[in-house]
Amino acid sequence: MTEYLKPIPIPSPDSLPFWEAAREHNLCMQKCRKCHKYWFPPSTLCPQCGNKVYDWVNTSGIGSVHSFVIYHRLYHKGWTAEVPYVVALIELDEGPRLYANLVDIEPDEVRCDQKVKVYFDDVTEKCTIPKFRPLNASPD
Ligand code: ZN
Repeated sequence: MTEYLKPIPIPSPDSLPFWEAAREHNLCMQKCRKCHKYWFPPSTLCPQCGNKVYDWVNTSGIGSVHSFVIYHRLYHKGWTAEVPYVVALIELDEGPRLYANLVDIEPDEVRCDQKVKVYFDDVTEKCTIPKFRPLNASPD
């Protein structure tokens, strides 16, 4: 594995299950036991109904592009080989939205509402970052 030059996410106690699941190549989020809604980012109570009882549940990893930006400017040397690159707000089919890199597509071909699927980039031995690519480009 080549040296990884980008910042590594530092899990909080609330987000640790998300990152541990990512290492196992699962996109896992909290799901309320009362109203059955998923939510993200992680928190200790359901943002829909305030219930404090939830489970960590694997999602489908399938969603759509809600919005996106194309970074043409280099803000960190770790991305030197990647500009321009896409950061998208992905809306999962289960409802929650999360920011992620959208890859395996030319930036000027990205469209809102296009279907995407998660894949897991094992950037170091201890860190896996969920990213997305067009659903029709996913090998699995
Ligand atoms: Zn709830």
